[in-house]
Amino acid sequence: MCGIIGYCGRRPAVNVVLEALKSLEYRGYDSAGIASLCDGRLLIRKDAGKLDEVVRKHNISDLPGNVAIGHTRWATHGAVTRPNAHPHSDCTGRVAVVHNGIIENSQELRRELTKNGHRFESETDTEVIPHSWRTS
Ligand code: GLU
Repeated sequence: MCGIIGYCGRRPAVNVVLEALKSLEYRGYDSAGIASLCDGRLLIRKDAGKLDEVVRKHNISDLPGNVAIGHTRWATHGAVTRPNAHPHSDCTGRVAVVHNGIIENSQELRRELTKNGHRFESETDTEVIPHSWRTS
């Protein structure tokens, strides 16, 4: 079962989010990732594997910003790979999404969005969400 956390406040967001993801590890997961917002830019770091490994490999503790979201994934759609780990973004890189559960009509939405010019980077159902905030 996945874990999700979001933080917006005065503390360095990545510390709060990592602490929370650690406390959700017991739920089981296969991948982990974080998106941090700093000076109007989204920074996304993610990978398959245990939280500690992913954090070390991608220097996640160094991510700046006071707004962040984090996710531990339990794959339902798509293999356990870095591109399939959350957060997911859209073609503009201006939005990041973490998600728990299943989007039943994701294939249909993906076909429609692809027809409208969207390029997908993962096999997940989740990625239709960020691509949907702007439909073309
Ligand atoms: N269906 C999504 C995926 O496969 C979310 C899985 C989850 O709840 O962690 O990436």
